[in-house]
Amino acid sequence: MSKSSFKIKGFSSTAVHAGHNTESNHAHLTPVYASSTYVFDTAEQGMERFSGKQDGFIYSRWGNPNFDEAERKIGALESFGIVENGEPLQLKAVLHGSGMAAISTLMFGNLNAGDKVLTHYSLYGGTQELLTRILNKMNIEVIIADLRDLNLAEEKMKQNPQIKLLYIETPANPTIQCVDIGELSKLAKSHNITVACDNTFATPYLQHPFKYNVDYVVHSTTKFLNGHGTAVGGAIVGRDLEKMSTVFEKTKRLLGGSSSPFDAFMLVQGMKTLEVRMERHCSNAEKVAEFLNNHPQIAKVNYPGLTTHPDHKVALKQMKHPGPMMSFELKGGLEAGKKFIDGLKMCVRAVSLGTCDTLVSHPASMTHYGVPEADRIRYGITNGLIRMSVGIEDVNDIMADLDQALS
Ligand SMILES: *Cc1c(COP(=O)(O)O)cnc(C)c1O
Repeated sequence: MSKSSFKIKGFSSTAVHAGHNTESNHAHLTPVYASSTYVFDTAEQGMERFSGKQDGFIYSRWGNPNFDEAERKIGALESFGIVENGEPLQLKAVLHGSGMAAISTLMFGNLNAGDKVLTHYSLYGGTQELLTRILNKMNIEVIIADLRDLNLAEEKMKQNPQIKLLYIETPANPTIQCVDIGELSKLAKSHNITVACDNTFATPYLQHPFKYNVDYVVHSTTKFLNGHGTAVGGAIVGRDLEKMSTVFEKTKRLLGGSSSPFDAFMLVQGMKTLEVRMERHCSNAEKVAEFLNNHPQIAKVNYPGLTTHPDHKVALKQMKHPGPMMSFELKGGLEAGKKFIDGLKMCVRAVSLGTCDTLVSHPASMTHYGVPEADRIRYGITNGLIRMSVGIEDVNDIMADLDQALS
């Protein structure tokens, strides 16, 4: 069988092989193209590349072979297994230097002064601040509501014809609340509203927002997609290929939040193991959540895999597993929480998530420090809340470390 007639069917095979192009020096991996600019054979060729008549690289803020490979792989993973009108879904990703750069491109590429954004009240702290501190200065208003209440979501859409974008994040940081992508997307479409979903916590291994007709997915690739904490990065993925190559590619180039060749190289290697890592992250998390839920020092565990979690049903409906992320509160509140964090011996005290190591952080003083306290508490980000990204270590070691830090 020739290579071209062999069709890759599995998720991991796609994660390993998709996006890779044969390299002219027969290197197995695409080498890091550490070059800021690209050479034209003639002036004519330069003109053709600028006009788009000829494919080819020009300048690394615009594009480079390492970015292209990462973009093709992300597009293949987000569209994995989705068929629309009898055809496999085609998506285009645009890689960025961070998740926030990708989210900025999404916002600036979609919104004009006078437009409104509808979003859920539990969001990544940076996204929340981008909306309330930067976009509001451009006369773009954000409406924050509890989007788990579909009647409320519809009411907001009806009352505000200026809403151009529904922005959701599920599971959401750091309360691990889940919103119903399918139902919200349907409502938004009936009001001509564009839909974007931050899929960072779930990754395309656990959740495929494009199945529910969303227009865009954004990622902080810094987290589970990279998987090893070696580089910051982000991506916006879209189904309108023409618009992705023009509007969003242009917006990225002009805002300047491009990735770096080395970071893109690290991301490509990391994504190859997404399935095996996520399986281990998730099975560890289910055991750790059970353990914490039964621990006498713990007041509350937010984990969508627990039947007591208010969004348990929604999580099961749209995710393959309930995921590696959880948060919890100690009975002793903030002081007990600080003591617990300081007592950890193996789990790592750090913000961020999605690395092989278990990471433990305190949202109120770290990731959500910039969110006003009253809002924070209203969103469920209490002073004693602890967030944990469960790693791929031996689960018995994770539980033993948590247990000794709790005692
Ligand atoms: C980390 C994160 C971001 C921001 O990504 P950066 O890569 O840090 O810029 C956005 N959304 C979610 C859900 C995140 O966890």
